[in-house]
Amino acid sequence: MSEASTSTPSSAPNGALDDRAIIWFDIDNTLYSASTKISQAMGDRIHQYFLDMGLEEEEATTLHHKYYTTYGLALRGLTKHHDIDPIDFDRKCDGTLPLEELIKPSEQLKQLFKDIDRSKARVWALTNAYQPHARRVLRILELEDQIEGVVFCDYAEPNFACKPEADYYHQALRKAGISDAKKCYFVDDNRANIDAAQKLGWNSAHFCEKGLETVEGGKIKQIGMERGTATPDNGAKIIADLEELREIWSHLFTSSTKK
Ligand SMILES: [Mg+2]
Repeated sequence: MSEASTSTPSSAPNGALDDRAIIWFDIDNTLYSASTKISQAMGDRIHQYFLDMGLEEEEATTLHHKYYTTYGLALRGLTKHHDIDPIDFDRKCDGTLPLEELIKPSEQLKQLFKDIDRSKARVWALTNAYQPHARRVLRILELEDQIEGVVFCDYAEPNFACKPEADYYHQALRKAGISDAKKCYFVDDNRANIDAAQKLGWNSAHFCEKGLETVEGGKIKQIGMERGTATPDNGAKIIADLEELREIWSHLFTSSTKK
């Protein structure tokens, strides 16, 4: 697995001449289910970080949500308006998640990745997490050898980009050495991230575990209740199970394994 942050434009394993499609997988709440409640555990830690800065409960809740909705990630608001160390933030928040207790490798998911026809598609991860968390999840799920590159948010960079900003998707294309948006196939649990990808001409699948809850910006959200989820108006596919990728993008899977 190669590493590709938003700040080191290199390491596209196959270079600009690679003509294959790319399947981009989000990591959190996509490669594992929201039922793990990892987003809740992340939200709790971020809230605690605000409290440790000296904020009162209510103020912490308000600011956490405001930064998330304004900047896409609470951390970006924190670095913009407060003197905090983003690496320390990552260590205290994502770094202390008991992931080994919450997620396990899945033979079915591993097989899904193995059944992607690599003569037709490369497989990359595209996450808003920092590299240590991204790598840790992929290692626990035993998917590291199935992912050729990881585009992650580089918390060490001032003003780093993140989904759903168009810039972040453009950076991802540069990292992977691909210019044709139509060759991009993107899977993410976040509707705004999907809509942004669709706008850029990517093929997208919204992994939507309707009925479950997730925490975004410190607030509980009912999955599947956001705009466009019931009736997609921009061509994005909606899937409830990653296995459905075998059908909606059947041309990217080995023919013997299509279901
Ligand atoms: Mg996600």
